[in-house]
Amino acid sequence: MHDRADEYGRCTRALQEDRARPGNEGIFDQALTNGLAAIVARRWPDEEMDGTRVKSALKLLDVIAALGERAGDGIYELPDLHQPSEGSPFGEGPTPTIVKVAMLQKAIEITQRPRHARLSDREPLGEDHVDALAALNVDDSLRVSFSDFDLDEFEQQVALRDAAEVGRARAYLDLLGVGEEWDRREALDFVSEFTEIDDDERVEPVECPVCGLQALVPSGYDSYGREIAWGTCAACSYTRSFDVADLEARDEAIDEAVSDPDR
Ligand SMILES: [Zn+2]
Repeated sequence: MHDRADEYGRCTRALQEDRARPGNEGIFDQALTNGLAAIVARRWPDEEMDGTRVKSALKLLDVIAALGERAGDGIYELPDLHQPSEGSPFGEGPTPTIVKVAMLQKAIEITQRPRHARLSDREPLGEDHVDALAALNVDDSLRVSFSDFDLDEFEQQVALRDAAEVGRARAYLDLLGVGEEWDRREALDFVSEFTEIDDDERVEPVECPVCGLQALVPSGYDSYGREIAWGTCAACSYTRSFDVADLEARDEAIDEAVSDPDR
């Protein structure tokens, strides 16, 4: 799977290029959730998790507001974890991470309108919001090079579409969490409910990368024989595409060939 810093970098880069791109709500959520989760996990391990899944961006901002140092109205500062090396593009001295909590909360309100519906006109994501997102990159847990993501490449497009899909499913999951519905689903036995026997072969749901439950029902597998499933999660609705499963399998196959060239 892509790591959090990568996911943050790709999605932030995509929004810097075009804030109004299709799926921008999910892409923003995915950038912010992954960026904040990396920052929180590095400083306060486990504080980024909510049971089996990563906390929502709003909850991660609450963690930072509770544990960070207040540096202004709605702004929090996190000290640099270590001195950057000489010649670092992030400066010579310690660079604190500035988290514009209020600005980012506002951006979440814009991108996740259904949960915060005031039934007013739809507001576009602003440059300030994307800047506040990109400002997180000075943090020691991120520091990605945005120019490394060539979004015209097939792999990057697949990953970006998946980011939008993950963001969409997470918004749905958060919506269910507002009422009792998520508690009800979490208690279900998806494995016995959705296991199929096909020509004596058991096809069981696999762990969903969004909600963490073993509820992703396979529609099929990758073409490299690595049994990475694509399909839809019966709990949170996330759909992993064939392309995502297949690229993940390809990367695994390459990693294995590199680490064990005699095979
Ligand atoms: Zn799920």
